[in-house]
Amino acid sequence: MTITQQLDFGREAALAGTPCPEPLIRWIEKLPADLVDIHNRIAESGHGSWVVGGCVRDALLGVSNGDIDMCSTCTPEEVMGLFGEQAIPTGIEFGTVTIKGVDQHYELTTLRSESMYRDGRRPDQVTWGTSLEEDLSRRDFTFNAMAVDLARRVLYDPFNGAKDMEEHLVRAVGDPMQRCDEDGLRIFRAYRFLDRGQLSLWSLEPALHRAMQSKQPILAKVAIERKWTEFRKIMNGRHAPEVLSLMVDDGTIQHIMPSLRFVTPELLALFGKNVNDSWLLKHRLGFLLVEFDTLEVKRTLGNLKLPKFLLNDTIRFHRNLGTIPDAHTSSLRVFRYCLGEDAPIHLRLQGLLSDASVTVHGRGLLEGNMVEVMRKWSSLSPQQTPNESLVDGHWIMMRAGVEQGVRLGRLKNWLHRIQIEHDITEVNEIEQHLSRLSWRHGEPLEWPQLQFP
Ligand code: ATP
Ligand code: MG
Repeated sequence: MTITQQLDFGREAALAGTPCPEPLIRWIEKLPADLVDIHNRIAESGHGSWVVGGCVRDALLGVSNGDIDMCSTCTPEEVMGLFGEQAIPTGIEFGTVTIKGVDQHYELTTLRSESMYRDGRRPDQVTWGTSLEEDLSRRDFTFNAMAVDLARRVLYDPFNGAKDMEEHLVRAVGDPMQRCDEDGLRIFRAYRFLDRGQLSLWSLEPALHRAMQSKQPILAKVAIERKWTEFRKIMNGRHAPEVLSLMVDDGTIQHIMPSLRFVTPELLALFGKNVNDSWLLKHRLGFLLVEFDTLEVKRTLGNLKLPKFLLNDTIRFHRNLGTIPDAHTSSLRVFRYCLGEDAPIHLRLQGLLSDASVTVHGRGLLEGNMVEVMRKWSSLSPQQTPNESLVDGHWIMMRAGVEQGVRLGRLKNWLHRIQIEHDITEVNEIEQHLSRLSWRHGEPLEWPQLQFP
């Protein structure tokens, strides 16, 4: 928006605030027009609304992540009436309505005052409130418990979150023991907020850290999907090695991966290595579990209810980590075909494991000459042959007189392997190879296949 875009005055919060510091003013001046419109519609109806939580924290830090949450004194029903088609009741029983904007959606939550968390997960009862202070007091950390009155340019920071941010400190709102008791997920969230990307690792306020250690049994009650949402962010973080190392030391990592009792510092240190920004979540997960055998990896990841593609990709990546391709050009071509665009990063990651002498799949060190493999790999010429087989089953039946069945299927696969190994582009070359293969004899299930390992 431009400064000329008018922000109307809504109901004022009954809470002492301070003028917004410079980074927040700059952020407010650039707010999208659709958000200003939402704000103004609430103000016109005589209610108050505030931007709150993560977006205020990030705006103060000078980083915008795009996610903007608001809270207001409107009840969810009033919000639905005010915004009509634009409103989606995404979590109406907790007071949350999503308002569709032009380029993004905004979560608008009714101020609440809620009581009791007997199950360690969700409040038993939610009642609508009008106190911004009360709403902020039930948020997790001081820097997540700040709100801004956009029109008045006032920051509400009742728990001194801005000061904690200056000191890079993660501090609970209120008594940390009680707050971890209410919702065990906050333990994982605290680890997550230690990592603020470009900034150095933040610290846990000591009483919060003690609560995280002693209250961890409550994590057993937290839904695995919620834990995974936080853990995923930890894994993707710039400071993942340090945060994971702390989780291992505290024993909390076992509440997401029960068999992961120990991770060697050598392995965690690899996480911090630059691999041309190509670390993907599957790579980090595969690395974290590199010492497990495939069965244990399946069990561990299966418990997390990951999206299917991530589960399968990670299992495949982990399994392949156990074998270094041999250094022949033909083997490297097959390796490149099977791993596709993953092949270069795969070799780079195996190189890291090999240099750090990390045990793989619980069996020992990777066997193979990584230096020689890398040397050959860097001089491998680009693939000329198409990915698809140059000959089909019909062609093979005509040339070799093989009947339909296992023999034909395996022979086709064998020829495809030969095509990739020799980077063949002409069918007659395949024909020459076929004439030399001893396919008439032997057990077809033992014939070479186009696969890695
Ligand atoms: P991100 O920028 O990564 O989304 P965030 O702080 O916005 O971080 P969300 O999970 O989107 O995290 O939560 C939004 C806000 O809701 C938080 O800033 C915090 O005020 C509050 N909140 C979220 N989860 C909890 C919780 N488990 N207990 C208390 N307050 C919470
Ligand atoms: Mg958020």
